[in-house]
Amino acid sequence: MSDGVTLAQAQRRGVELLAATPADADIDVDWLLTAATGLSAAQRRAHPEDPITETAWRRFQALLQRRYRGEPVAYLLGRRGFLDFELVVTSAVLIPRPETEHLVEAALETPAARVLELGTGSGCIAIALARAWPAATVDATDCSAEALTVATQNAAILGADGIRFRLGDWYEPVSGSRYNLIVANPPYIGEQAPEPDQGDARFEPRLALRAEESGLAALRTIIVGAPRHLEPAGRIWLEHGYDQGPAVRECLAAHGFQAIETRRDLAGHERVSGGRLGDTPHE
Ligand code: GLN
Repeated sequence: MSDGVTLAQAQRRGVELLAATPADADIDVDWLLTAATGLSAAQRRAHPEDPITETAWRRFQALLQRRYRGEPVAYLLGRRGFLDFELVVTSAVLIPRPETEHLVEAALETPAARVLELGTGSGCIAIALARAWPAATVDATDCSAEALTVATQNAAILGADGIRFRLGDWYEPVSGSRYNLIVANPPYIGEQAPEPDQGDARFEPRLALRAEESGLAALRTIIVGAPRHLEPAGRIWLEHGYDQGPAVRECLAAHGFQAIETRRDLAGHERVSGGRLGDTPHE
């Protein structure tokens, strides 16, 4: 029962519970209490002594318990901000990360008429590019039908419903098509790395996180297939692990890419690499 529990007390109890976890207690409790009460943090702070309603209290307790067990806030709220928009997210898709915004920014530097995203997940990259380039043709593939349901929903909400979402492994659904730009944030965490078994990532799809060959398998598959799916002078941009820059650059060079460059993320890690094909058509 919520008998007499005020908004301020609910907030404090939430923070106390989450203090024992790796969660960022203050921020997470703010989000969860907003979701449970429908009141913004500013509204709650203006009336801290107001009692929380019975329904909101029950909702808050349920969300807190799930967060306590480690479920990511994005899955609890069902949404996550990315660049200047918000995406629906479920546990069928990787939660969009700030690192991936660097990939979009790099890709946007050179306009492209035909764009392919591989492993689109929530659709965040394809949607960002389609919104920036309304006249572009954007195709996006994913091997998870559940992920494509989420991506399609996001595209519709965000006015990017021209994106053609295709079910299948990497290039398989678009064989025979060529593009001016290929982008991907594929799984790149190695088989032995502990991260997917820790913290919030435990709740994310394995398929979106882990790859064989020390995390390089999907990146290599994408680079190897790229010349066959790019027009002359076509570009590629890929997100990768902090220590995979040298391997990705080497692989790009081995498959005909030039002007290869790497961008760092806000933590200073090499995170996004890309290049451009030569001007002569590739097989
Ligand atoms: N950057 C993510 C992480 O470290 C991994 C995303 C990916 O594998 N594409 O959790």
